[in-house]
Amino acid sequence: MTKFYWLQFPEQSRYTGDLHASHKWGGLPGLRCPQCGATWAGSATSYPSADLSSLPERKEYEKPRPEPFDEFVRLRELVRPLVPPGAQLKPGAQLGPLVGTATGTFSPLFFCFLSRPLVHREALEQLQAEGVRGLRGFPTELRFRQKKHPELLELEILPHGRLHPDCTPQDRRPPCSKCGHDYFPRPDDPILDAASLPTHTDLFRLTDFETMLIGTERFVGAVRRLALEDLDIRELPLR
Ligand SMILES: [Zn+2]
Repeated sequence: MTKFYWLQFPEQSRYTGDLHASHKWGGLPGLRCPQCGATWAGSATSYPSADLSSLPERKEYEKPRPEPFDEFVRLRELVRPLVPPGAQLKPGAQLGPLVGTATGTFSPLFFCFLSRPLVHREALEQLQAEGVRGLRGFPTELRFRQKKHPELLELEILPHGRLHPDCTPQDRRPPCSKCGHDYFPRPDDPILDAASLPTHTDLFRLTDFETMLIGTERFVGAVRRLALEDLDIRELPLR
Protein backbone atom coordinates (compact mmCIF):
# COMPACT_ATOMS: atom_id res chain seq x y z
CA MET A 1 0.00 0.00 0.00
CA THR A 2 1.39 3.35 -0.95
CA LYS A 3 1.85 5.99 1.73
CA PHE A 4 -0.04 9.28 1.80
CA TYR A 5 1.18 12.61 3.12
CA TRP A 6 -0.49 15.83 4.20
CA LEU A 7 1.19 18.80 2.51
CA GLN A 8 1.19 22.18 4.20
CA PHE A 9 2.89 25.52 3.81
CA PRO A 10 5.29 25.80 6.76
CA GLU A 11 4.34 28.05 9.65
CA GLN A 12 7.83 29.52 9.42
CA SER A 13 8.82 30.21 5.84
CA ARG A 14 11.38 32.45 4.25
CA TYR A 15 9.03 32.97 1.31
CA THR A 16 6.92 36.09 1.46
CA GLY A 17 4.55 35.65 -1.49
CA ASP A 18 1.26 37.46 -1.37
CA LEU A 19 -1.58 37.75 -3.84
CA HIS A 20 -4.23 40.30 -4.61
CA ALA A 21 -5.99 38.17 -7.13
CA SER A 22 -9.19 36.34 -7.92
CA HIS A 23 -10.38 33.85 -10.47
CA LYS A 24 -11.38 35.35 -13.78
CA TRP A 25 -14.99 34.16 -13.94
CA GLY A 26 -15.73 34.28 -10.21
CA GLY A 27 -17.25 31.15 -8.81
CA LEU A 28 -20.31 29.25 -7.74
CA PRO A 29 -22.50 31.21 -5.33
CA GLY A 30 -23.24 30.08 -1.81
CA LEU A 31 -26.58 28.45 -1.08
CA ARG A 32 -29.43 28.57 1.39
CA CYS A 33 -30.68 25.09 2.10
CA PRO A 34 -34.41 24.66 2.80
CA GLN A 35 -33.78 21.28 4.45
CA CYS A 36 -30.92 21.79 6.93
CA GLY A 37 -31.27 25.57 7.19
CA ALA A 38 -27.59 26.25 6.53
CA THR A 39 -26.41 29.20 4.45
CA TRP A 40 -22.99 28.29 3.26
CA ALA A 41 -20.22 28.36 0.70
CA GLY A 42 -16.80 27.11 1.62
CA SER A 43 -15.39 25.17 -1.29
CA ALA A 44 -11.61 25.50 -1.37
CA THR A 45 -11.33 24.11 -4.89
CA SER A 46 -10.46 26.23 -7.90
CA TYR A 47 -10.89 25.19 -11.50
CA PRO A 48 -8.44 27.35 -13.43
CA SER A 49 -9.15 25.22 -16.51
CA ALA A 50 -12.79 26.35 -16.61
CA ASP A 51 -13.50 28.65 -19.55
CA LEU A 52 -16.82 30.42 -19.25
CA SER A 53 -16.25 32.74 -22.21
CA SER A 54 -18.91 31.04 -24.32
CA LEU A 55 -21.46 30.74 -21.51
CA PRO A 56 -24.14 33.44 -21.89
CA GLU A 57 -24.84 33.32 -18.12
CA ARG A 58 -21.18 33.94 -17.17
CA LYS A 59 -21.95 37.25 -15.42
CA GLU A 60 -24.05 35.34 -12.88
CA TYR A 61 -20.86 33.91 -11.35
CA GLU A 62 -19.13 37.21 -10.72
CA LYS A 63 -20.60 38.20 -7.38
CA PRO A 64 -20.32 35.98 -4.30
CA ARG A 65 -23.71 35.75 -2.60
CA PRO A 66 -26.00 33.05 -1.27
CA GLU A 67 -28.73 31.81 -3.59
CA PRO A 68 -31.78 29.61 -2.96
CA PHE A 69 -30.93 25.93 -3.43
CA ASP A 70 -32.60 25.48 -6.83
CA GLU A 71 -30.87 28.55 -8.27
CA PHE A 72 -27.52 27.29 -6.95
CA VAL A 73 -28.16 23.93 -8.66
CA ARG A 74 -29.03 25.66 -11.95
CA LEU A 75 -25.77 27.62 -11.89
CA ARG A 76 -23.77 24.56 -10.82
CA GLU A 77 -25.12 22.42 -13.64
CA LEU A 78 -24.40 25.11 -16.25
CA VAL A 79 -20.66 24.90 -15.48
CA ARG A 80 -20.45 21.14 -14.94
CA PRO A 81 -19.47 20.51 -18.59
CA LEU A 82 -16.65 23.06 -18.16
CA VAL A 83 -14.86 21.25 -15.30
CA PRO A 84 -13.19 17.82 -15.31
CA PRO A 85 -15.65 14.87 -15.35
CA GLY A 86 -16.81 13.89 -11.87
CA ALA A 87 -15.35 17.01 -10.24
CA GLN A 88 -16.88 18.01 -6.92
CA LEU A 89 -18.66 21.37 -7.29
CA LYS A 90 -19.44 22.74 -3.85
CA PRO A 91 -20.80 26.25 -3.24
CA GLY A 92 -18.01 28.78 -3.63
CA ALA A 93 -15.86 26.73 -6.04
CA GLN A 94 -13.75 29.16 -8.11
CA LEU A 95 -13.64 29.26 -11.90
CA GLY A 96 -11.06 30.40 -14.42
CA PRO A 97 -7.46 31.56 -14.35
CA LEU A 98 -6.08 33.59 -11.48
CA VAL A 99 -5.94 37.30 -12.32
CA GLY A 100 -4.38 40.08 -10.26
CA THR A 101 -1.09 41.11 -8.72
CA ALA A 102 1.60 39.14 -6.91
CA THR A 103 4.27 40.47 -4.57
CA GLY A 104 7.14 38.88 -2.66
CA THR A 105 8.77 35.52 -3.21
CA PHE A 106 7.18 32.18 -4.01
CA SER A 107 8.59 28.74 -3.25
CA PRO A 108 8.54 26.25 -6.16
CA LEU A 109 5.43 24.63 -4.64
CA PHE A 110 3.62 27.50 -2.96
CA PHE A 111 0.70 26.11 -0.95
CA CYS A 112 0.19 29.16 1.27
CA PHE A 113 -3.26 29.84 -0.21
CA LEU A 114 -5.00 26.49 -0.27
CA SER A 115 -7.65 27.51 -2.77
CA ARG A 116 -4.98 28.73 -5.20
CA PRO A 117 -2.02 26.36 -5.06
CA LEU A 118 0.84 27.69 -7.17
CA VAL A 119 3.83 26.04 -8.80
CA HIS A 120 6.81 27.33 -10.75
CA ARG A 121 6.58 26.12 -14.36
CA GLU A 122 10.06 24.61 -14.06
CA ALA A 123 9.13 22.67 -10.90
CA LEU A 124 5.97 21.33 -12.53
CA GLU A 125 7.93 20.08 -15.51
CA GLN A 126 10.52 18.48 -13.22
CA LEU A 127 7.82 16.70 -11.21
CA GLN A 128 6.15 15.44 -14.37
CA ALA A 129 9.50 14.23 -15.69
CA GLU A 130 9.91 12.27 -12.43
CA GLY A 131 6.71 10.41 -13.27
CA VAL A 132 4.37 12.18 -10.84
CA ARG A 133 0.84 11.59 -12.12
CA GLY A 134 -2.19 13.83 -12.35
CA LEU A 135 -0.49 17.23 -12.11
CA ARG A 136 -2.25 19.89 -14.15
CA GLY A 137 -0.93 23.45 -14.11
CA PHE A 138 -2.65 26.37 -15.80
CA PRO A 139 -1.31 29.81 -16.74
CA THR A 140 -2.07 32.62 -14.34
CA GLU A 141 -2.58 36.25 -15.31
CA LEU A 142 -0.59 37.65 -12.39
CA ARG A 143 1.31 40.92 -12.59
CA PHE A 144 4.45 41.27 -10.50
CA ARG A 145 5.89 44.50 -9.22
CA GLN A 146 9.43 43.18 -9.41
CA LYS A 147 11.08 42.50 -12.75
CA LYS A 148 12.63 39.18 -11.80
CA HIS A 149 10.05 36.57 -10.86
CA PRO A 150 9.21 32.95 -11.58
CA GLU A 151 6.50 31.91 -14.00
CA LEU A 152 3.69 30.84 -11.70
CA LEU A 153 1.08 28.33 -12.76
CA GLU A 154 -1.98 27.41 -10.74
CA LEU A 155 -2.43 23.73 -10.00
CA GLU A 156 -5.91 22.32 -10.48
CA ILE A 157 -6.05 19.92 -7.54
CA LEU A 158 -9.26 17.90 -7.56
CA PRO A 159 -11.06 16.53 -4.51
CA HIS A 160 -10.75 12.75 -4.03
CA GLY A 161 -10.92 10.53 -0.97
CA ARG A 162 -11.96 11.43 2.55
CA LEU A 163 -11.13 11.32 6.22
CA HIS A 164 -11.88 8.13 8.12
CA PRO A 165 -14.89 8.60 10.42
CA ASP A 166 -12.78 7.41 13.37
CA CYS A 167 -10.87 10.72 13.36
CA THR A 168 -13.87 13.04 13.06
CA PRO A 169 -16.05 14.08 16.02
CA GLN A 170 -18.28 11.35 17.45
CA ASP A 171 -21.25 13.71 17.40
CA ARG A 172 -20.65 14.61 13.75
CA ARG A 173 -24.01 14.75 12.02
CA PRO A 174 -24.43 13.00 8.70
CA PRO A 175 -24.12 15.34 5.71
CA CYS A 176 -27.36 17.05 4.67
CA SER A 177 -29.05 14.77 2.16
CA LYS A 178 -30.17 17.74 0.07
CA CYS A 179 -27.20 20.15 -0.06
CA GLY A 180 -24.34 18.04 1.31
CA HIS A 181 -23.55 20.47 4.13
CA ASP A 182 -21.10 18.64 6.40
CA TYR A 183 -19.35 20.95 8.82
CA PHE A 184 -16.93 19.62 11.41
CA PRO A 185 -13.64 20.95 12.77
CA ARG A 186 -10.44 19.63 11.28
CA PRO A 187 -9.15 16.76 13.41
CA ASP A 188 -5.78 17.22 15.11
CA ASP A 189 -4.78 13.71 14.11
CA PRO A 190 -6.27 12.99 10.71
CA ILE A 191 -6.71 9.41 9.50
CA LEU A 192 -7.46 8.74 5.83
CA ASP A 193 -10.20 6.38 4.72
CA ALA A 194 -8.05 3.94 2.75
CA ALA A 195 -10.86 2.59 0.57
CA SER A 196 -11.75 6.09 -0.63
CA LEU A 197 -8.30 7.14 -1.83
CA PRO A 198 -7.57 7.62 -5.53
CA THR A 199 -5.12 5.37 -7.36
CA HIS A 200 -4.76 7.45 -10.55
CA THR A 201 -3.26 10.69 -9.22
CA ASP A 202 -0.40 11.63 -6.90
CA LEU A 203 -1.83 14.93 -5.67
CA PHE A 204 -5.37 15.66 -4.52
CA ARG A 205 -7.45 17.39 -1.87
CA LEU A 206 -9.97 15.61 0.34
CA THR A 207 -13.63 15.70 -0.66
CA ASP A 208 -14.77 16.31 2.92
CA PHE A 209 -11.91 18.69 3.79
CA GLU A 210 -10.91 20.49 0.63
CA THR A 211 -8.24 22.54 2.40
CA MET A 212 -6.24 19.37 3.09
CA LEU A 213 -3.82 18.69 0.25
CA ILE A 214 -2.59 15.11 0.05
CA GLY A 215 0.36 13.73 -1.87
CA THR A 216 1.32 10.13 -2.48
CA GLU A 217 4.65 8.51 -1.76
CA ARG A 218 5.55 9.07 -5.42
CA PHE A 219 4.82 12.80 -5.15
CA VAL A 220 6.75 13.22 -1.92
CA GLY A 221 9.68 11.14 -3.22
CA ALA A 222 9.97 13.40 -6.25
CA VAL A 223 9.67 16.58 -4.14
CA ARG A 224 12.52 15.36 -1.93
CA ARG A 225 14.75 14.27 -4.82
CA LEU A 226 14.25 17.62 -6.52
CA ALA A 227 14.77 19.50 -3.22
CA LEU A 228 11.57 21.48 -3.71
CA GLU A 229 11.91 22.78 -0.22
CA ASP A 230 9.55 24.71 2.00
CA LEU A 231 6.73 22.24 2.31
CA ASP A 232 5.71 20.58 5.57
CA ILE A 233 5.17 16.91 4.83
CA ARG A 234 3.40 14.67 7.34
CA GLU A 235 2.53 11.03 6.74
CA LEU A 236 -1.06 10.23 7.62
CA PRO A 237 -2.27 6.86 8.88
CA LEU A 238 -4.83 4.92 6.83
CA ARG A 239 -7.73 2.82 8.07
ZN1 LIG B 1 -28.78 21.23 3.53
